[in-house]
Amino acid sequence: MSVTELQADGEVANTHELDFKYSMMLPAFRGIPAVRDIDGLVNPRGFITVDKHQRNVKYPNIFSVGVCIAIAPLEATPVAVGVPKTGFMIESMVAATSHNIGEILRGKEPTHEATWNAFCLADFGDKGVAFLAQPQNPPRNLNWSSDGKWVHLAKIAFEKYFMRKIRKGQSEPYYEKAIMKMMNVTRLKG
Ligand SMILES: Cc1cc2nc3c(=O)[nH]c(=O)nc-3n(C[C@H](O)[C@H](O)[C@H](O)COP(=O)(O)OP(=O)(O)OC[C@H]3O[C@@H](n4cnc5c(N)ncnc54)[C@H](O)[C@@H]3O)c2cc1C
Repeated sequence: MSVTELQADGEVANTHELDFKYSMMLPAFRGIPAVRDIDGLVNPRGFITVDKHQRNVKYPNIFSVGVCIAIAPLEATPVAVGVPKTGFMIESMVAATSHNIGEILRGKEPTHEATWNAFCLADFGDKGVAFLAQPQNPPRNLNWSSDGKWVHLAKIAFEKYFMRKIRKGQSEPYYEKAIMKMMNVTRLKG
């Protein structure tokens, strides 16, 4: 693999070759064709723009959650990079959206905002990395990470727990909410 490292101003700082047996390159994400050209709905990369209530400004009947939404990068970088979106962050968007739609159905203005906290177990097969970032984008109130085999085992346990609660139709049982609140990890602001 040929690697080019850039300085902050975009000038080439270094180039080198990297040996590898197996490698994965992730191309820049962009929005899906179904929405990519809808003026006012998406940004130039095809991601859906939302206000703080997960609602599009031009089409207020459209709410968006997940990887499809536009999150502005925090700073200019020589190679454009996207803001990562992870599972818990998306659950918080969904929680805010469902409460907001409920408010609109009751004739009120939406008031709920997602925390966009990132609480993630990234499984590498035999071990993994856990991290907590509150909020996901700096400046953060909390930044923590840990790695080891325990993360792999925790991810297996989490999958079983997650599938069970979804089968039971409970997105956030009271004990989960209580435990997460002890760590100050909530889905909704305020
Ligand atoms: C390799 C990898 C590892 C990750 N690991 C973690 C992790 O450990 N922890 C974590 O929290 N997050 C992780 N993430 C991030 C997380 O998986 C994503 O942020 C999350 O799945 C996004 O959910 P989503 O529902 O927004 O989108 P998706 O899960 O991508 O769902 C979008 C769906 O829309 C469908 N679709 C697309 N086009 C159309 C169309 N035209 N019509 C109808 N349907 C359509 C797609 O088929 C897809 O099913 C990881 C992501 C990747 C890629």
